[in-house]
Amino acid sequence: MNPVVTIVSWIVLGLVLAKCAAQLWLDHLNRQYVLAHAGSVPPVFKEIIDEPTYAKSVEYTLAKNRLSQIETAYNAVLLLVVIFSGLLPWCYQVSTNWLGPSVWAVAAFLFAIGAVLALPGLPLEWYHQFRLEERFGFNTTTQKLWWLDRLKGLLLGLALGYPLLVLVLKLVEWTDGGWWLWAWGTLLGFQLIMLVLAPVLILPLFNRFAPLPEGSRRERLFKLAARTRFHARSIQVMDGSKRSRHSNAFFTGFGGFRKIVLFDTLIQQLAEPELEAVLAHEIGHFKKKHITKTLLLSALGSLAGFYIISLLAKQEWFYRAFGFTPGPIAPALLLFGLLSGVVTFWFSPLAHWWSRRHEFQADAFAAEVMNEPGPLIGALRKLNEKNLSNLTPHPAYSRFYYSHPTLLERERALQGENGSRRGEKAEADRAI
Ligand SMILES: [Zn+2]
Repeated sequence: MNPVVTIVSWIVLGLVLAKCAAQLWLDHLNRQYVLAHAGSVPPVFKEIIDEPTYAKSVEYTLAKNRLSQIETAYNAVLLLVVIFSGLLPWCYQVSTNWLGPSVWAVAAFLFAIGAVLALPGLPLEWYHQFRLEERFGFNTTTQKLWWLDRLKGLLLGLALGYPLLVLVLKLVEWTDGGWWLWAWGTLLGFQLIMLVLAPVLILPLFNRFAPLPEGSRRERLFKLAARTRFHARSIQVMDGSKRSRHSNAFFTGFGGFRKIVLFDTLIQQLAEPELEAVLAHEIGHFKKKHITKTLLLSALGSLAGFYIISLLAKQEWFYRAFGFTPGPIAPALLLFGLLSGVVTFWFSPLAHWWSRRHEFQADAFAAEVMNEPGPLIGALRKLNEKNLSNLTPHPAYSRFYYSHPTLLERERALQGENGSRRGEKAEADRAI
């Protein structure tokens, strides 16, 4: 075997194992940290949560942690088998023999491989929903709904992903060396269209959206919308309770296509001023143009991604290392899709730092338009309690995985405090 090919194989093996080891280590750190604080409610949380609820949140965190460790090891083994067993080149060969080398056939092969590789993850997903979430009283999804969701996801992928793949492969044919720039432009255009269409066409396939019901709550929220010059008709209530008792709120779309969505579960849990504060936070995301900024950042990432694929597609060693014959673009796309995660994983703290910055900005906006931080703090505390969030994640773990600052970080920022409180952290991973 060519020595370069051998070295590449070893490097890829090392990258897969390094990511797996880092994930297991972070989970281990987090587990130890949670166990160290498990005895009784840490003093800073005494007024937020009672002993039985705290004990339940610890148990929930540990159960999720165990499942995550199993998932990490399982995924790494699966990835190694898939890329080094020769299975992929064999499938590619069978597919081109059978369907021919046309763009339509190659796109079908890529799509089918993606769908098949998603199958081994289903049992763990199922266990998470119907065993783990069920045990802690969060699951409201029926078996039928769960399977229907998967089916809808697959059909949506077929309707949107397949034409996109065909287009990218066509661009490679049409434009030769500069295809990666065209493909990137196409993807960016597609993402922009989806940002507009998803709230109108895709989200309603999974959930029902309704305007806020009449009453004092609606009046209050509409007044806030008027005060902040936000189009109030785009505030909607979603039947999140159809799948889970977890509560949330989010902002989506941009410009005239914006939409703020409040889960029905959130409306049940929060008092009116707290709900108003959550809405103010979401309006903050809109005012600070967070969706546009995040899209720009991800566009830079995909530009780099396409450029790297175009470089790899010219390297014979890249194909040989995984048993492919050099030449066609499809194996390069497939291998990049499977392996990019082992590199991008190391950038996730950076992406999450960027996201947490936005959360702080939206919080500050909410406190400003509410004239006080109290209602938002009340809402965040309640969300952490109701969702049984981990109140004591390991700092390294939260830096790596949390898209939202911890509860204490948010409270401190809202109250303008800088002092440390014995280094204890709180989670708000599911909250607004
Ligand atoms: Zn937010």
